[in-house]
Amino acid sequence: MKKLLVINAGSSSMKFKLFKKEKLKIIAEGLAERLFIDGKFTMKYNKKKYTIEEKLNSHDDAIKLLIKQLKENNILNSLEEIEGIGHRVVQGGEYFKKSTLINQNVLKKIEELSKLAPLHNPGAVSVIKSFLKLTPNIKNVAVFDTSYHTTISKENYIYAVPKKWYEKYSVRKYGAHGTSHKYMVEMVQKILNKNSVNIISCHLGNGASITAIKNNKSINTSMGLTPLAGLIMGTRSGNIDPSIIGYIAKETGKNVYEITNILNKKSGVLGLSKISSDFRDLENEALKGNKDAIFTIDVYCKKVVDFIVKYQNELENKIDAIVFTAGIGENSSTIRKNIIKNIHTIKTKINEKINDKKHKEEYTKISTNDSKIPIYIIKTNEELMILRDLIKVANL
Ligand code: ADP
Repeated sequence: MKKLLVINAGSSSMKFKLFKKEKLKIIAEGLAERLFIDGKFTMKYNKKKYTIEEKLNSHDDAIKLLIKQLKENNILNSLEEIEGIGHRVVQGGEYFKKSTLINQNVLKKIEELSKLAPLHNPGAVSVIKSFLKLTPNIKNVAVFDTSYHTTISKENYIYAVPKKWYEKYSVRKYGAHGTSHKYMVEMVQKILNKNSVNIISCHLGNGASITAIKNNKSINTSMGLTPLAGLIMGTRSGNIDPSIIGYIAKETGKNVYEITNILNKKSGVLGLSKISSDFRDLENEALKGNKDAIFTIDVYCKKVVDFIVKYQNELENKIDAIVFTAGIGENSSTIRKNIIKNIHTIKTKINEKINDKKHKEEYTKISTNDSKIPIYIIKTNEELMILRDLIKVANL
């Protein structure tokens, strides 16, 4: 039986999904995490779920453990059964406008782009290298988070810094979560039965970004050179005054890299609330009346509203739908309600009864029927997009 693998490697983790090629059914999925620290491997298959705690010193270790587990559980007899692997790669720079079959040249470029995405690309590079070594015959395809945003105009992607920074160092907005935003386009096309759609797409997960989509194409997005920019996130600050970095360096004696690390890993709702990066914890605390939690949620929602209103203008107020997706967007009725009730420029209302329900469906309309613009919750499915591109690009 032919199988396809989708890998999403982070700096210290590796998510995987193994599919049966036929009907693209998931056979096994899981996560290797805490790489370089101690190592934890979780796999779900056949309605069973188990965890192994084992030292994982590299992405290579994680892959070896994955293959061993797949074989021991008779999910895979040999690696030859895997026809292709789709890799999520965060940064494709200006090189990759679409998903690409990986060869040594492509790999070199992804590696070179690590300088623009030091927290993200190196993980993907390690995984790709390991697989190329282990099974040189399997086709590997890279699916870039940035590709979908390559339609953004220079006006919107350029920063007002010395021109040389763009020309020599490639400093510009690249965006991220492109695969998810693109999936939103396909879903809205299907829901509204319309070929060309204008959307404000809110991907609110641990990382979060909003994209303005005009005639199916990304015209602006909240993330920047890296996924640190834009909205407030679980642990990332989002947009701040850049001079804060120099000021804090001077006040604390920390260097630029240490401060950037704090902006990536200890800021966002975690930093502001001092409670948690997870919205479930924040919401629980808010329900108990914790003022820090309530305040943090309000500030978070306000930034989302700011981007929605800005993008409403960029779309010349011609919007077919506003969509919410990813962990928070799909699951938090409170956050959605808080955001929508604070948009005063669009005549749209939330249907609270529907909004408050648990949503298992592919999509749900949560706005009232008399709303000017419909609002949907759409379950994102980045793996499916990666899988489709893998099949198309590798000709499988
Ligand atoms: P990522 O893929 O970026 O790691 P996800 O899209 O899976 O993130 O989103 C994870 C986040 O979603 C969690 O950190 C949590 O804050 C939020 N989340 C998940 N379920 C809920 C829920 N029921 N209510 C509120 N927030 C939730």
